[in-house]
Amino acid sequence: MARFTDRVAIVTGGGSGLGRATAHRLASEGANVAVVDLARDAAEKVAAEIAETGGTARAVAADVSDPKSTSAAVEEAAGGLGRPQVLVNCAGIGGFSHTLDESYERWSAIIGVNLTGTFLMCQAILPHLLDGGGAIVNVASNAGLMGQPYSAAYCASKGGVVNLTKALAVEYVKRGVRVNAVAPGGMNTPMIAGFTMPEGVNLKEFAKVTSPLGYSEPEEIAGLIAYMASDDARYMVGSVVSMDGGITA
Ligand code: NAP
Repeated sequence: MARFTDRVAIVTGGGSGLGRATAHRLASEGANVAVVDLARDAAEKVAAEIAETGGTARAVAADVSDPKSTSAAVEEAAGGLGRPQVLVNCAGIGGFSHTLDESYERWSAIIGVNLTGTFLMCQAILPHLLDGGGAIVNVASNAGLMGQPYSAAYCASKGGVVNLTKALAVEYVKRGVRVNAVAPGGMNTPMIAGFTMPEGVNLKEFAKVTSPLGYSEPEEIAGLIAYMASDDARYMVGSVVSMDGGITA
């Protein structure tokens, strides 16, 4: 399949986990990919991996929670690769904590990256998408569709991503821009490997957010994202597609 030949795609969080898998998948289908990440070295490593496989990619360092940085990132991608037609918002942070112990700073950081960062990237790319069409795929989570214990900020941020996606979808559906979201369950990525349980937690409380199938691989979710970003999904608008091993079934 080569559904993205000569198209430019921007993938945030592209230096790791799902973003890395998505950057590879889109590049393998012909996209010229801007790999956007907070850490320039991580973005450069993934861009180099893509180049090694014969693809085209450009590393862009950016903090998605900073409006100046998101505007600069989109313009750098457009200047280097051409008009972006696809945006995949994978950048995210999380972690478990007792709500009573959550600091204002940590709450703000999670909302700032996951929700505000998604909004800022959408806002920055929209002028390009409106100039000829395009698609956005935001990354929500099962935690945006249900309560996950010890995850108030993360659940709030991902619930926000769900309805941000729907709001943008209805605002731009008549103007050639499709906006959708994917809602993965637990994925085998560095993010989840770095999680630690807060003190005194009974793991049985996590049964409802655990699939009997275990974790997905990021490449499995990347395949769904590629479909959603492609013309195959022409009629998919404002959808939130769960791929979570049955957690929200
Ligand atoms: P990951 O491996 O930690 O990748 C996230 C990437 O985002 C990292 O490269 C990280 O950079 C980058 N990032 C963090 N803050 C950023 C910022 N301010 N600006 C730009 N980039 C930033 O995590 P992942 O599991 O692939 O997560 C990808 C998405 O899937 C996230 O939105 C996450 O919430 C969502 N998700 C994950 C799971 C799961 O189980 N893993 C489940 C459902 C949904 P640094 O490493 O430098 O911080």
